[in-house]
Amino acid sequence: MNALLLIGGRVLDPGTHFDAVADVLISEGKIAAVGTEAAAKAGSGAERMDVSGLVVCPGLIDLHVHLREPGQGAKETLATGTAAAARGGFTSVVCMPNTSPAIDNPGTVALIHELAAGQGKVNVYVAGAISRNIAGEELAPIGSLKKAGVVAITDDGHCVQNNELMRHALEYAKMFDLTVMDHCQDYSLVTDGVMHEGYWSTVLGLRGWPSAGEEMIVARNILLAETTGARVHCQHLSAAGSVELLRQARRRGVPISGEACPHHFTLTDAAVAGSEKFWVADGKGLLSAASEGDGLPSWPVYDTNFKMNPPLRSARDREAILEGLVDGTIDILCSDHAPHCDYEKEVEFDYAPFGITGLETELALSLMQLYHSGRLGLAEIIAKYTIAPARLLGLRKGTLSVGADADVTVLDPDRRWVFDKGLSASKSLNSPFHGWPLKGRAVATIVAGKKAWVEAAELAGV
Ligand SMILES: [Zn+2]
Repeated sequence: MNALLLIGGRVLDPGTHFDAVADVLISEGKIAAVGTEAAAKAGSGAERMDVSGLVVCPGLIDLHVHLREPGQGAKETLATGTAAAARGGFTSVVCMPNTSPAIDNPGTVALIHELAAGQGKVNVYVAGAISRNIAGEELAPIGSLKKAGVVAITDDGHCVQNNELMRHALEYAKMFDLTVMDHCQDYSLVTDGVMHEGYWSTVLGLRGWPSAGEEMIVARNILLAETTGARVHCQHLSAAGSVELLRQARRRGVPISGEACPHHFTLTDAAVAGSEKFWVADGKGLLSAASEGDGLPSWPVYDTNFKMNPPLRSARDREAILEGLVDGTIDILCSDHAPHCDYEKEVEFDYAPFGITGLETELALSLMQLYHSGRLGLAEIIAKYTIAPARLLGLRKGTLSVGADADVTVLDPDRRWVFDKGLSASKSLNSPFHGWPLKGRAVATIVAGKKAWVEAAELAGV
């Protein structure tokens, strides 16, 4: 029997409201028992792992990841992207369709499934495109995509500007019971903006990307979700106004949801002006949970690792995203892991591609900004990485119920460590958090009962 007994951890399963010190028995890739009967049911051949003092939770899910295949294997591959996911504590990821070619047809979906089966270290779910070639002009074959196994549709990286086309996308998505995820960006307002439009864009002489460019599309999506009854999920929210629009719409019962990424609720636009300006303007107290008098991380002005889309916004926006996470307006956390090669990022700010890696730092940053800061409990944060994304996309994941797939994350919320991009499993190094003292990390990632990643030798057996 292929069995693994996790002994003495704090088992936290927000989907079933379970929170107690207990053993977990995994057998044949499934959760076989939780609690007192787990040890009794484990045969003498079962492998034992002492996880006392650690948290055992359902495997984390990141529903917003760019794995870059097909076509952009220099940035990331299925193998390296899923290895980074495993290190970050993630047992499932949803990959975005803005690849080359785009994932806008059943053949490309099948290709990803095949690559994932051969090289994936974690479960890979596929998001298909809304429009053909992500061009925003005609719809992708949404029914065929669903048949091929996509779990959502999105033109992420781009945004369908034609409201009528978007309405039809929502109508088809509803027919096929698919969630539409949207990267909210009004092109006529944003034009060629490269950072948040505000004080720092003026000081730095960079073209602004105004908050209204996001809020406009969030409002559009709310209206169309209300009109069609389709589920719409707003990706990587960055602006205070977006959070307020979402809050009001959810109160009215509109089928709309949102997600937030750690960079948007940790950093601000002042970071584009360099570390000195950032720590003085918006960074006070940020690392107090993690660092014990270490020097603060430093980076230069115009560092392109602080360029992403949507951009880092003001301290007020950062606070609004945190408030939205606390009151449940935003119920999902994710990374928008967007790897790019050094040679692409090592150019003038205007010319660099948008995006940063995030799979290996997102859990720590979420714990620091939400748990260690006292804003949210551990169970509420874990819910935003497990049961909430599973429910949104209809994945049979996100719980430790007996009989469920044995996707399990073991984490130490208090572990202090420093992120070194050189040790990353990702193929790309474009993280703004290199050298940051962090607090909290995954120490073991178990997928279908098998260890996809284990941090330290002491966990290997007892
Ligand atoms: Zn996006």
